[in-house]
Amino acid sequence: MCKVLNIKEWDKVAILIDFDGTITTIDTNDKLMYKHMNDKVRELLPKELEMNYMKFMDALLDQVKITEEEYLKFILSEIDISPGFLQFYENIKSRNIPVAIVSGGFQNGIIPFLDKYGIRDVDIHANTLNFQDDNVTVTYYDDGDLECCDMGPCGNCKIQHYEKFKERGYKTIFIGDGMSDQAVARQAEIVFAKDGLEQYCIENEIEYIPWNTFEDINKIVFLDNQLI
Ligand SMILES: [Mg+2]
Ligand SMILES: [Zn+2]
Repeated sequence: MCKVLNIKEWDKVAILIDFDGTITTIDTNDKLMYKHMNDKVRELLPKELEMNYMKFMDALLDQVKITEEEYLKFILSEIDISPGFLQFYENIKSRNIPVAIVSGGFQNGIIPFLDKYGIRDVDIHANTLNFQDDNVTVTYYDDGDLECCDMGPCGNCKIQHYEKFKERGYKTIFIGDGMSDQAVARQAEIVFAKDGLEQYCIENEIEYIPWNTFEDINKIVFLDNQLI
């Protein structure tokens, strides 16, 4: 199912973007867990759907031994950017379109990753990793709202960021790929979905636009629709 875009008719457009598996080609947290695979991680991974996200992430990170320096090196040397993202970022900046990156992952990786590509002026809403030698714990962006949505508690519910734009009169384009994007995908005016999120949209009859890389999104939003 695909929505007909009428973005040109909107007064105020904002963009919300997931980070892992969306701006990056693969999920950094998944990759981190595979690198630290052991019996306990193997046992935990299938429980993602049943568990509270914060408890799930805390339990996984209990199994990860990595220093801040090693984590940074991992993010900067093993993670790739989605083709077309830099052009996409230029497109939105040159049109002064408000944008926020919303992630169930960690700003410790997101900020340096984007900085590597010269992106330093974007709103990032994500959780924070705390390193003590090679032990890792998380400070969640918002661990107070236990009933943020039916997927919650999320620790950083993407719906709250969507609602902030909505309160200011914006219609929102959401771009994502995974489980933490499901609740916001039911609300955003336009949803670009791939992988697990696309599957979720199909199963739940949510209108979405399929995408693979930001080259697709650049074409749909900025060429075909001539969003100016
Ligand atoms: Mg993702
Ligand atoms: Zn939530």
